[in-house]
Amino acid sequence: MKSVRTRFAPSPTGFLHIGGARTALFSWAFARHHGGAFILRIEDTDVARSTPEAVQAILDGMAWLGLTPDEGPFYQMQRTDRYKEVIRQMLAAGTAYPCYTSKEELEALRAEQEARHEKPRYDGRWRPEAGKTLPPIPADVPPVVRFKNPRDGVVAWDDQVKGRIEFANAELDDLIIARADGTPTYNFCVVVDDWDMGISHVIRGDDHVNNTPRQINILRALGADIPTYAHLSMILGDDGTKLSKRHGAVSVMQYDADGFLPEAVINYLARLGWSHGDDEVFSREQLAAWFNLDHITPSAAQFNTEKLLWLNQHYMKALPPADLAARVGARLAARGVVTADGPDLVKATALYVDRCPTLKALADALQGFYTGIEAAPELLAQHLSADALPALADFVAGLADVAWEAPAIAALIKATLARHGLKMPRLAMPLRIILTGRAEAPSVDALLAMMGREKVIEKVSAALGKHL
Ligand code: GLU
Repeated sequence: MKSVRTRFAPSPTGFLHIGGARTALFSWAFARHHGGAFILRIEDTDVARSTPEAVQAILDGMAWLGLTPDEGPFYQMQRTDRYKEVIRQMLAAGTAYPCYTSKEELEALRAEQEARHEKPRYDGRWRPEAGKTLPPIPADVPPVVRFKNPRDGVVAWDDQVKGRIEFANAELDDLIIARADGTPTYNFCVVVDDWDMGISHVIRGDDHVNNTPRQINILRALGADIPTYAHLSMILGDDGTKLSKRHGAVSVMQYDADGFLPEAVINYLARLGWSHGDDEVFSREQLAAWFNLDHITPSAAQFNTEKLLWLNQHYMKALPPADLAARVGARLAARGVVTADGPDLVKATALYVDRCPTLKALADALQGFYTGIEAAPELLAQHLSADALPALADFVAGLADVAWEAPAIAALIKATLARHGLKMPRLAMPLRIILTGRAEAPSVDALLAMMGREKVIEKVSAALGKHL
């Protein structure tokens, strides 16, 4: 195989969304697998819709995912001279021609075709052919340039995802490659870029399948090698409909804001339409080692938020504890929460990670330990039953000199319960509510150990003071 060169070619008209990120990931992984190059190309020729903010959002999203291009970013707007040069060459070679059909003529043509129930298409009136006399060139119509698409036969390719795809050339009319003001059009820029950049494999969304036959024909006319194409099926939302803004977090950076780890998102995206046996959890390096185009499914992939959450929690738990604490600490700091005076963050995150599938959820769960928690009085009244009060008071007294670690605290709880003839929840529930404000919390002994002796005695005594 000649050297593998792939590209990701987003149009900067919005943020980097999940579908685009998957396309980028597959292109990246394929290049990595073959020791090739992954190129980033910003397709910004649609000046009305492209924005510098969107360019930045794409670059940020790719950087967050760790999808570093080997070459680029290249910007199409900076390559206009090159496109114009190729257009001139094609005009000279006769593979493209000027077309002077006016807007009014095109509209009339369209109306006639529609009246005959035909598909509206350019009729080739300015297309030069042997023995054909072209109309006189009008003085006041600046021409567009059209590609001289083959009239007969088919254009076909073996799509690496969808199998063989064929289009009849008769279905393709002569595409405008330069507008009347000389600016090149979208499909043409893609072709010149794929050619100049030596792209060997075009991996992109299947919304581009209809562009491919035109692009192949132009590449052929240029004498360029035809890349291998792989068109990825779309991604459906959790509900089985096409993924869209309605589904919430579709921007990659929104996943960052929502507390997902890039490692988890990469792993998750890799499995959206590609598989390696039954493997669900694998690293970026394993993905690069395993990735191929043979195991991309031609059917649509369905998003599964539960699975992403599960993976994210898996990656959070796999982080070195200090790293997890640092990431959660950064989130709390960004909220203006000072963590220096509260429980040790490494212990706190380790204790809560089992119940929090995202960094955000973990920060939410821990925030109160640093900003102060006041349990709702109704909740306290509900769980702090009269028979539990003496036991709780007894327990607090014992806390003053128990060894401050979970097993010793657990032993003290047990002994207190036995002395008062109570069952675990009578002590555990009020403690959870006093200390965390909620009924759901990790095991009390571990919770107390994490919070620290002083804080626990202070809070429980205060609650007892109100209720005794
Ligand atoms: N710029 C196109 C898009 O964002 C992709 C073009 C291509 O991959 O050929 O959909």
